[in-house]
Amino acid sequence: MRDTLIEVTGLKKHFEIGNGIQLKAVDGVTFTINRGETLGLVGESGCGKSTLGRTMIRLYDRTDGEVLFKGKNVHQLKGKDSAQFNRDVQMIFQDPQASLNPRMTVLDIIAEGLDIHGFPRKDRADRVKELLELVGLSKQHASRFPHEFSGGQRQRIGIARALAVEPEFIIADEPISALDVSIQAQVVNLLEDLQQDKGLTYLFIAHDLSMVKHISTKIGVMYLGKMVEMADSFELYAKPLHPYTQALLSSIPIPDPTIKRERIILQGDLPSPANAPSGCVFRTRCPKATAQCAEQVPEWMEAAPNHWVACHLYR
Ligand code: SF4
Repeated sequence: MRDTLIEVTGLKKHFEIGNGIQLKAVDGVTFTINRGETLGLVGESGCGKSTLGRTMIRLYDRTDGEVLFKGKNVHQLKGKDSAQFNRDVQMIFQDPQASLNPRMTVLDIIAEGLDIHGFPRKDRADRVKELLELVGLSKQHASRFPHEFSGGQRQRIGIARALAVEPEFIIADEPISALDVSIQAQVVNLLEDLQQDKGLTYLFIAHDLSMVKHISTKIGVMYLGKMVEMADSFELYAKPLHPYTQALLSSIPIPDPTIKRERIILQGDLPSPANAPSGCVFRTRCPKATAQCAEQVPEWMEAAPNHWVACHLYR
């Protein structure tokens, strides 16, 4: 039995950008994340995946829709419940260089969350040292500054900071994109080990499908503020339904030379979310578009068990 931790229903985040124009960064997204699983979220830059993550944990106010965390509406939490939510959800950022204050020691960076949430002052240094060892660094690193570390080590510091207050849910926003390829696997392995150890649930945001393959239990694909497909990881790679997912997958090299996959080249650029096409937002680049696609917004439907898609081809 899957235990739902987060339930997102019809979530929208629109930004006013002047002259009455709205940028629909997230436009009616519905999905669930179960406890202990990793949802990999992919899509091109500007498709709304980071805005979705930030709106889910209240870094942005929502325009419409609902996010339930352990059954409670996160945008209506108050007092102790709100403070507990701020502990339960944490974020790991893309650029460890930019997200760590260069004037603070590693100890103070990691202990910031402990201080905010009233952790006993006398225990903070021991707790930070314990966290450093947990993420594969040394306790001697606590007195150093961020510039004394490599990119991979800085991301480990970011992970330790996120873990400090013992969260249940972590949003990792492109946590490996800024790292060398040789270091990426080490950080993914660390996140997987921590998940096993602490029963964490992740939303892992990345811009391409090859990055999320190994860590994700299930994968969601976003395009222009909409979720276009979501399925268990194995199913999505084996049987992608949406033409956009098929195009993204066709660009990933397959290490087995006996398997041939035709490369699908998408025409044109990603339209602006301030001026999205009518009907299906993907229709201006979709090789399978029909007249219906310009008129009707495709429904978000379960085409096979736990395999969701928004495309008229599957009605
Ligand atoms: Fe392509 Fe139409 Fe499906 Fe959109 S609804 S993905 S345009 S076939």
